[in-house]
Amino acid sequence: MDSFGIGIESSCDETSVAIVKEGRELLSLKIYSQIESHAPYRGVVPELASRSHLEKINLLLEECLEEANVSWEQIKYVAVSAYPGLMGSLMIGAQLARCISLVHSLPIVLVNHLEAHLAVVGLEEELPEFPVLGVLLSGGNSSVYLYHDFGKMELIGDTMDDSLGEAFDKVSSLLDLPYPGGPPVEKEAVLYESKSVGKLPSLFPKLLKESGEEIQFSFSGLKTAVLYHVKSQTKESLDVGRVCSDFQKTAFELVIRNIRKAVKKTGIRTVICAGGVLANGSLRNELELESKRQKWKLFYPRKKIHCTDNGAMVASLGYHLWKKGYNAPLNFKVSPKRNLTNTI
Ligand code: AMP
Ligand code: MG
Repeated sequence: MDSFGIGIESSCDETSVAIVKEGRELLSLKIYSQIESHAPYRGVVPELASRSHLEKINLLLEECLEEANVSWEQIKYVAVSAYPGLMGSLMIGAQLARCISLVHSLPIVLVNHLEAHLAVVGLEEELPEFPVLGVLLSGGNSSVYLYHDFGKMELIGDTMDDSLGEAFDKVSSLLDLPYPGGPPVEKEAVLYESKSVGKLPSLFPKLLKESGEEIQFSFSGLKTAVLYHVKSQTKESLDVGRVCSDFQKTAFELVIRNIRKAVKKTGIRTVICAGGVLANGSLRNELELESKRQKWKLFYPRKKIHCTDNGAMVASLGYHLWKKGYNAPLNFKVSPKRNLTNTI
């Protein structure tokens, strides 16, 4: 008999519930994005986020159940993003998972939100064999993992300051573009690149010469370069498209460099890239090109909806962990940290 599972996501600014079959087939997915509530503040306001999760989450569950058309008897587990994330937000999803577990006697599977971002590719194609490299580029993370197995990730590279998504958001703010910054910065860059004839030098300094084995991200220098450039221009002379294009190119060069280093260091040539920034078409192209050049096996969520925070990734990873016997006690804790020191 097929096993169905529920996935609950409420770690940040998307409330989402999904139902999957056998961890691979998506039956229903509902996402409520809070972007409009946070946009006036140009960042996620934790208190607004948790209130909004509370308002929407039950409704999304009802809609999901109706659309998937499965009975409670067919559902075998409830998976929930338990870390990392905003505490107040995580607690809303956790409470729903506890209620479902109590009422329907289902095991609760605690999911690492970051791992779920990587494992979501399993909803689109056959997951590669472990170990793989996992590259997370989101609003809160720029990190590289050695992904050993479901539930077992080892951090091998991280950012010293901002995440890539944050850098997009801040550059967008410097240019008076909307929040979140990724989509408008990408749009301006694409428009500029489609119109520009001939190659102009980058407005920003080249990356420092590659040295050492360390896999490290840092975007503060690039952000400062954008700030100084914007300050040096008048409203008329500022070429927003060129700034966006040069910013993206430099940032993506660092991403590719770090993947190259991680491959060299570990000898692993299978790479899963994921997180909100993977919605960016230029990044996807650069990764495709480099993976062909370097003969890496590249995976990333082809569907942009799978790049966003969503319950489908939680339900899908939850399936594999449930199969491994994960079953959290009702009094489990959630955590803002990337590691959960919790019984699972
Ligand atoms: P997440 O933390 O995974 O929800 O991802 C959200 C982050 O992804 C935000 O910082 C967005 O600015 C960024 N983002 C979303 N779409 C794009 C895009 N097309 N290009 C670059 N960054 C993006
Ligand atoms: Mg989000």
